[in-house]
Amino acid sequence: MTMRLFIGGMRGSQPALGSRFDEFGGDTTSLLLVGSHGERLVLDAGTGMRAISEQLAQTESGRVTVLFSHYHLDHLIGLTMNPLLYSPKWSFNFIGPTFADGGVHDAVTGLLAQPYWPISWKQMRAKIEFTEFPAEGIQVGGLHVQGCPVPHPGGSLAYRVSDTGGASLVFATDIEWQKRTPADETAFRMLCTTPAPANLLIIDAHFGREQQEAFVGWGHTSWQDGLEIAASTGIQRVLLGHHAPGADDAALRALEQQVKNASPGAALARAGQWIVI
Ligand SMILES: [Zn+2]
Ligand SMILES: [Zn+2]
Repeated sequence: MTMRLFIGGMRGSQPALGSRFDEFGGDTTSLLLVGSHGERLVLDAGTGMRAISEQLAQTESGRVTVLFSHYHLDHLIGLTMNPLLYSPKWSFNFIGPTFADGGVHDAVTGLLAQPYWPISWKQMRAKIEFTEFPAEGIQVGGLHVQGCPVPHPGGSLAYRVSDTGGASLVFATDIEWQKRTPADETAFRMLCTTPAPANLLIIDAHFGREQQEAFVGWGHTSWQDGLEIAASTGIQRVLLGHHAPGADDAALRALEQQVKNASPGAALARAGQWIVI
């Protein structure tokens, strides 16, 4: 048995609307990982979480774990209009890191309250719990999750999820690789390679290398860096995401051709896609 991954959305920073964004999708980052024993783990809660809730609504109601890389709005905003949060049939464990500016409880309860949203999280009928992501990692059923801090303004965590069936992936959205320290580099490479190279690397490709100098400190990585990390850590399959909000389908198709010429095992994430790992 393997893990299955559903891409609710992988747009960066802000949703992108209109027919020019149909193929790759305009919803911000939210992914659903289904473990080999049916575990349901949501990675970030951008507007793509609406599509994930539609997928979940077709399955048996119950427990969902939502893991946050960090709390920038594009990774959180999908919680507001999430129908499952308004139903007593569902229970959510929101798990995430604590940074200098706060942790998962502060971020979620701050958003799901006035003046940002009319209905407080306390009025939502789903059972809601908050858990600070522990340094030693967590277990979600048979899924083992490890975290690794990566350079990003305010902080961000990359995760490795390993299934008892043997499959594993690394999720590294919102990472500014050029700003890494030697310790950051060692820790992230360990995450990618221990105990064996992950089967899939999902990584920030907001910029191309030619733009990177103009956007130092914006918190993102180039697709070229993403491919180099995969090649140097022995990861065969790469999914690039956090697509720039202005990059339309034509631009992303052209970019994907360049990416595939450089690395046949790499592709750009498309919203609505199911991937078997
Ligand atoms: Zn982001
Ligand atoms: Zn961010």
